[in-house]
Amino acid sequence: MSGEATTRDERIERRERNGKWQNPPLFIDMLDCINCDACLRHCPPNFGAIFNHGADVVIIPELCSGCDKCLPVCPVDCIHPNPDWTPAEVPDEWWTLPKSEHDPY
Ligand code: SF4
Ligand code: SF4
Repeated sequence: MSGEATTRDERIERRERNGKWQNPPLFIDMLDCINCDACLRHCPPNFGAIFNHGADVVIIPELCSGCDKCLPVCPVDCIHPNPDWTPAEVPDEWWTLPKSEHDPY
């Protein structure tokens, strides 16, 4: 398919980031996360990248623009840029979350 994945729906369907995004996606260090959901509530709906996954809070990198709106609200500073991420490290189960009843966006 040609063109950038400009909408969230396209990114979900194609499992691709928008190629025009300059910033790397962020990831949550689950060892430090206290599952407060503050980040999830601050991720803009047009990105909608943060999900509750069982006991974890996770960021799907293909949906994360690196806008950093989640960073200042994290009380334990456990959200970090992940410039070296690869699609292969994103578990398939995470992709069941967007557009499901667990999708908060
Ligand atoms: S950087 Fe922006 S898009 Fe990415 S998870 Fe945080 S708030 Fe959402
Ligand atoms: S704001 Fe920080 S501590 Fe709270 S759920 Fe998000 S990553 Fe975890």
